[in-house]
Amino acid sequence: MFRKKKQTNIIRQAVDFDQRLLDRDAIKVVQTISKAGFEVYLVGGCVRDLLLGLKPKDFDIATNAKPEQVHKLFKRSRLIGRRFRLVHVMFSARKFLEVATFRSGQVKTAKSGVIVRDNCYGKVEEDVVRRDFRVNALYYDINTKEVIDYIGGLQDINDQTIHIIGEPLVRFEEDPVRMIRAVRFQTKLDFQLSDEIKQAIHQQASLLSNISPARLYEECIKLFHNEYGFQVFERLEKYDLLKHLFKQTRKNEFIKIALNNTSSRIKRNKPVTPAFLFAVFLWQAQNERFQLIKQKQKSTYLAMSQASEEVIISQIKQVSLPRWLTARIKDTWMMQNRLEKMQPKKVEDILASKGFRMAYDFLVLRSQSINPELKSVADFWTKAQK
Ligand code: ATP
Ligand code: MG
Repeated sequence: MFRKKKQTNIIRQAVDFDQRLLDRDAIKVVQTISKAGFEVYLVGGCVRDLLLGLKPKDFDIATNAKPEQVHKLFKRSRLIGRRFRLVHVMFSARKFLEVATFRSGQVKTAKSGVIVRDNCYGKVEEDVVRRDFRVNALYYDINTKEVIDYIGGLQDINDQTIHIIGEPLVRFEEDPVRMIRAVRFQTKLDFQLSDEIKQAIHQQASLLSNISPARLYEECIKLFHNEYGFQVFERLEKYDLLKHLFKQTRKNEFIKIALNNTSSRIKRNKPVTPAFLFAVFLWQAQNERFQLIKQKQKSTYLAMSQASEEVIISQIKQVSLPRWLTARIKDTWMMQNRLEKMQPKKVEDILASKGFRMAYDFLVLRSQSINPELKSVADFWTKAQK
């Protein structure tokens, strides 16, 4: 039934995108593949964002050329991926574009319903239905300057609604990460989620715990390192997804102010580190743990250290954190005590230490939220830097 509807309702809409939002390298790659005789499109989030007048984060390209054929067309390209093979066309040390061959929706799933293999090449019509949301399944043909819509993505853009492709329960079971992607896109685009999606999330939120902590780490960065992180946080909590990422974390003013601070840094193109946000998310749990341990452990230092270890160990079972990152989190926490003491003899050493900057920012945000009594301490360290 779905197939029939899909075939009869293809919409081609001519659009002349704002040239300033288009990526020249992406256009070049598409042109090269097209001139070699293949079918090729810009696809996914970039088409969605261009239609909404937003600057896309990245440009994905889909084609009927096989990865080896694409690789041959670009000197500076490489084949990557195990679960599915892709080509990265390199432009600089930091910039590459991803070219994917159309894949059929045929997936091999494990007993849990999770996809274990989906590497069967297919036609563009099949590539459409393996994608997650209808707004993410629009194709742009640069030769005809048309957006091609097989399943109603354009309508959804108009209605400002996110619909999943296919059966929500099945699609979330196949890949539970789609639930947090739904929340992220809802917030980024300021769209609403379809009732179907909301219901399915309600039923299946706990499937997130089947996802590897390493993949969830990558997803968490996408969730919170953006201009709308706090809203994402609140919605994850509302949909009961947060506890499957950060079971020790509850909303508080410190988290709010830190996420909003991260957003405004990103807007101003200032650097951000995930270590900071994770340290904020886990701070309350660390404190509670510390209070308990302190009842038996006289040394504040040892109690702090043990509390930090325990909270981090519990966290990485859900979302893995690289070692350098946990070291920075712990360092930031341990420094709080030293900063609060304001010992004149130690000021120089503390100012010169590597972790000072982050620990200071952390302290300032605490003083502006959950610990107003630390205002004078924060002022002390602000002055000490001058
Ligand atoms: P953004 O880059 O702004 O985060 P995006 O939509 O481009 O959003 P990507 O993660 O870059 O998201 O993925 C590119 C495209 O690949 C998506 O638009 C979607 O069509 C498809 N896709 C990505 N992840 C999944 C998934 N888990 N399940 C199905 N399709 C997916
Ligand atoms: Mg993208």
